[in-house]
Amino acid sequence: MRLIALFSVFFAIFLLIMSGKGAPSFSASDMRVFMEDTAYPGGVALVRIGASNENPRVFTKIGGAPREVKTFIKNGSRYAIAAISLDYEPGAEITLWREDTNATFLVQVGDKDRVVQGISVSRKMEALDKKTVKRVGEERVILRNAIAQFNANRLAEMRFSPPTNGRLSAEFGVRRVINGKPRRPHGGADIAAPIGTIVRAPAPARAALVDRHFFCGKFVLLDHGDGLFTLYCHLDRHLVKQGDELEEGEAFAHVGRTGRVTGPHLHWSAALNGAWFDPLLLMSEDGVAEMLNLNKKRE
Ligand SMILES: [Zn+2]
Repeated sequence: MRLIALFSVFFAIFLLIMSGKGAPSFSASDMRVFMEDTAYPGGVALVRIGASNENPRVFTKIGGAPREVKTFIKNGSRYAIAAISLDYEPGAEITLWREDTNATFLVQVGDKDRVVQGISVSRKMEALDKKTVKRVGEERVILRNAIAQFNANRLAEMRFSPPTNGRLSAEFGVRRVINGKPRRPHGGADIAAPIGTIVRAPAPARAALVDRHFFCGKFVLLDHGDGLFTLYCHLDRHLVKQGDELEEGEAFAHVGRTGRVTGPHLHWSAALNGAWFDPLLLMSEDGVAEMLNLNKKRE
């Protein structure tokens, strides 16, 4: 796995050298994140922090405590990529800073229209007893602590391939109103697919958590390195154990309907610097189309 990551780095350097006159250009199928301004709640901010030969450690406070931020090279410059959690209001300012020079970078959080979705569930589904409330709180802390790690030994591959195939049944950030009461916005993208549909690693990763939680059901949290994580909920079966290493495209679970769900689907989330963001942002347009079986429609 490390070898693949290393190879990618060498290949990137090779491209840099081969491009001669300087800036290597990214292809049209590159991450959507490079094509539009995505510095909105639930999106990611890209900040130019220096030259490509510099490799400073960069930090931000998005999500509370200082968190290390992933950096990468693009067009001969080094950029930081920081996820902005849904807790931020449009217009808010976030700060990034370089450890070596103390230079700071301000990003103003933009706005994005989100769909509002009304859901009705039975009273029994809605009301949680004391014991469950406690359990849910503890499970939230477990996940929050897990995604706050920054594994610098692994260089995160930042272009995701489709983890499964299906229909996008709920976008990231949808504002949910359950039985008339507004709830937290949706922290993942839901891909509706039949029980047993294979779920694959969208990029090389280590299975950081393989467990079962109240809301998420059977789940796997993948650590891609550099503080980049992806989460898969409501699984029917785990095909990996905690600590297993996965290649891109390797099957690690089956879609299911465990946890708090109304039907079988994959709830897919991604996190950077401890903040959840829309995983579709790290897929190419073609990758999204493939996942949602839109290729035919796209001619
Ligand atoms: Zn979901």
